[in-house]
Amino acid sequence: MQTHFTLAQLADPEIRDVNAILRACVHCGFCTATCPTYVLLGDELDGPRGRIYLIKEMLERGRPATETVVKHIDRCLSCLACMTTCPSGVNYMHLVDHGRRHIARTYRRPLLDRWTRKLLGTILPRPSLFRLALTAARLAQPMRTLLPARLQAMLKLAPRSVGRSEVIEPGVLPAEGLRRMRVALLVGCVQQVIDAAINQATVRLLRRHGAEVVVVSGVGCCGALEHHLGHDVLDLLRANVDAWTAELGRGLDAIVINASGCGTMVKDYGFLLRTDPAYAAKAARISALAKDVSEVAQQLGLNGALPGALRVAYHSACSLQHGQKIHAGPKQLLQKAGFDVVDVPEGHLCCGSAGTYNMLQPALAEALRDRKLRNIASVKPEVVAAGNIGCITQLGAGVGVPVVHTVELLDWATGGPKPDALG
Ligand code: SF4
Ligand code: SF4
Repeated sequence: MQTHFTLAQLADPEIRDVNAILRACVHCGFCTATCPTYVLLGDELDGPRGRIYLIKEMLERGRPATETVVKHIDRCLSCLACMTTCPSGVNYMHLVDHGRRHIARTYRRPLLDRWTRKLLGTILPRPSLFRLALTAARLAQPMRTLLPARLQAMLKLAPRSVGRSEVIEPGVLPAEGLRRMRVALLVGCVQQVIDAAINQATVRLLRRHGAEVVVVSGVGCCGALEHHLGHDVLDLLRANVDAWTAELGRGLDAIVINASGCGTMVKDYGFLLRTDPAYAAKAARISALAKDVSEVAQQLGLNGALPGALRVAYHSACSLQHGQKIHAGPKQLLQKAGFDVVDVPEGHLCCGSAGTYNMLQPALAEALRDRKLRNIASVKPEVVAAGNIGCITQLGAGVGVPVVHTVELLDWATGGPKPDALG
């Protein structure tokens, strides 16, 4: 694709990167067929190619974002299915991230939209605030139908109970038997409040297979939720990089992440901090150490398997299959652990969760969720496994069978307790 940035614009390293991304696109349109919003809406501007043009026009002209640009970029899930499909290697993720930052800098959203985004960006990354918000949400449930659509969507997603006692505090959890690896676990923000059992299962699985697990003090939210809202999260990233870097001296073989949305983000820290001379190298090192829990489990090699072959529909989270290109590994682990693993039809399409998308775009998110639920039901599973808390929450109550994290099944099959959700 031809671009027309001026030399002055290209002096900005961000625009230089955008220019390189745009020039890689040959506007073939292959990506439109696998874009969930294009599949639903059939509008070129709600597909990747249309969005690429909108971002190009906006940035080349150096103009503030318009209402049209904001509408179509807001509808993008950042599911990255387009990146998997693209034959030219267009880095749509970095392009849309830049587009969102430009929107945040140049477009004044309506008051309610600003308020909602501010609220989500403030509450979700802070577990104590999030707990309070969930309590308030439970109290507000009886009057749900009187509230605006976005608030209704938020209340719908709020879990009925939150476990406090199981939260894993900073510290060192030794390996069982011979230590084969030392890893840092990102305990996350939303996940540890909504479903603390996932971190518990992760720790048990890793320790049982010879990994010493350290939860590093000072590491907070990975920044993904706010980043996708277009907010500046670089200071938050720097704080996490500093905290993990301080731990490197004691030896770290990996940073284990069990929420794939967070994993995609941490693996991108090196890129996001590339222009900061004080952090570029440190951030790149942290990104290189970041691993999805399934990658580390494969490296360790799991022992044990359950007899009985429970039928598991594996839901491949977008951030795992498209963002990190991890798809076969978790399924192989489940098969080896004794499960009968089945693929979900249209597995490349997002379930509509996508960070805060299901709260900001409830109608599209519900349409995608219903489509995913129908696809899951068609393979008649006894349980659904996924590697991302967002998907687990999104699919949760609607599928009719338990939805658990892949790691909970692997922990169970290798000597841990049966996941509570399985009864
Ligand atoms: S598939 Fe890739 S090259 Fe083709 S239009 Fe989409 S982004 Fe551009
Ligand atoms: S990230 Fe997903 S929703 Fe956005 S353009 Fe790409 S395929 Fe479509």
